Amino acid sequence: MIQTQLYIDGQWQSPIDRGTRAIVCPADESVIAQAAEATRADARLAIAAARKAFDGPWRQTTIRDRAKLLNKIADLIDRDAEKLAHLESLNTGKTLTESRTDMGDIAATFRYFAGLVASESGAVNEAPHHVISRTLREPVGVCGLITPWNYPLLQAAWKIAPALGAGNTVVIKPSNLTPLTTHHFTQLIAELDLPPGVFNLVTGGAEVGAELAESLDVDLVSFTGGAFAGESIMKAATGNFKRIGLELGGKNPNIVFADADLDAAVDYALNAAFFHAGQVCSAGSRLMVEDSIYDAFIGRLAERLPRIVIGNGFHGETQMGPVQSAQQHEKILGMVQAGIAEGARLVHGGKRPAGDVYKQGYWLEPTLLADVTAGMKIAKEEIFGPVITAERFRSEEEALRAANDTPYGLAAAVWTRDLDKANRMSRALRFGTVWVNDYHPYFPEAPWGGYKASGIGRELARIGLDEYTELKHSYINLAPKAMGWFGA
Ligand code: NAD
Repeated sequence: MIQTQLYIDGQWQSPIDRGTRAIVCPADESVIAQAAEATRADARLAIAAARKAFDGPWRQTTIRDRAKLLNKIADLIDRDAEKLAHLESLNTGKTLTESRTDMGDIAATFRYFAGLVASESGAVNEAPHHVISRTLREPVGVCGLITPWNYPLLQAAWKIAPALGAGNTVVIKPSNLTPLTTHHFTQLIAELDLPPGVFNLVTGGAEVGAELAESLDVDLVSFTGGAFAGESIMKAATGNFKRIGLELGGKNPNIVFADADLDAAVDYALNAAFFHAGQVCSAGSRLMVEDSIYDAFIGRLAERLPRIVIGNGFHGETQMGPVQSAQQHEKILGMVQAGIAEGARLVHGGKRPAGDVYKQGYWLEPTLLADVTAGMKIAKEEIFGPVITAERFRSEEEALRAANDTPYGLAAAVWTRDLDKANRMSRALRFGTVWVNDYHPYFPEAPWGGYKASGIGRELARIGLDEYTELKHSYINLAPKAMGWFGA
């Protein structure tokens, strides 16, 4: 049985009150680990260690040191990729193929930020000859990083790499449902000779996250998760006006016009909605199809859905794993029922699959609810499970209006062969990412984040590093002389 500990000030340790939490495999509900469950008191120790480290020798590291560190971390991720992928699948239920992809993306993220950090040099501004005016990027300070359960280590990497690369110190708090890969990652960090307190791991629940958000010694909080916690973090951050980055939920339209390549659009509609059992913030769960092809499109999906292989993520043939927790399982089933009550037509799924192997674990059939209309709750609220809601539209204007009529603005996709229409739509959709004739790709080089209630700030890309820096104007007068403004 795996036992995890906290990592504070360069030391592995148990929580002050010795709390633990059973970690459950969503595929069979077996207990796979006992994780340290910290409280606010542990979080305070970690914050103090990070503060001391930031105010100490860590400030003297050069960009070369930090770029080297990120590359070393990437090498260690590659070395342990298989172990990490197994842990991620065990803890989240996602297929091993998906977890292996995550590990590749994580190493790529560290290498990308290593390159960016190494290229940082500040700027010398035009100024009088006796003045040196420079624009400098400096670290923000102590960063509290709070991550969710759907992409535990990937989301952590998007934060840790730029935070350390920019010269900050960090306290990371993974979701207490899925701490295992972040714990293993911390073991990799412990192999390096970082000064104590630069990197701290505090596993626990909402109270640990709340302490990070409230603490006056934390300079920045970067959070990925739901709107409810996001709102309380934003309020708590006002205590010292700390910087915040929020990556929140989405309700992402996947819009198919009649002139699209339908074979590709049908195939991608499945991947958009059922990848990682739909537990993806950018999942294309809101399918919108042009009227003239709507019935045929629904028919083709209905034919494909029963063929999706649901099973344990470690089995080679599995295409879709379980959902994360009993709570999510119940919530998703409840939303499907609410959709049916609102008038949606259940085409497939909406229940636990039949068979003994699905009795234990949080299994759901891939679900298709057709004839949804834009006003229904299920067309507006995030489901975060393997459910497609399908709406019909009659014109480009109607599709655009309905797609934008959501509090969220994370990602959207448009399927059409008309490039002019593709361009018009991708400009008019109010979402942080708009794919045309594709779904899901993201790269470390491109920014990730949402409009409206999908969040504040961006991760990845240069801006994903800039978020962890303060901008300073350094002005040095080399030959000061009396100014005489108020006379002699
Ligand atoms: P959640 O908000 O319940 O929890 C996220 C993290 O915040 C966890 O570590 C949790 O322990 C912590 N937390 C909970 N309450 C807190 C509080 N009051 N103060 C501080 N920390 C608190 O979210 P979740 O259920 O773990 O994740 C699912 C949500 O995350 C979905 O809404 C999904 O869309 C979103 N998400 C967004 C992105 C993105 O890039 N925009 C990526 C992944 C997930």
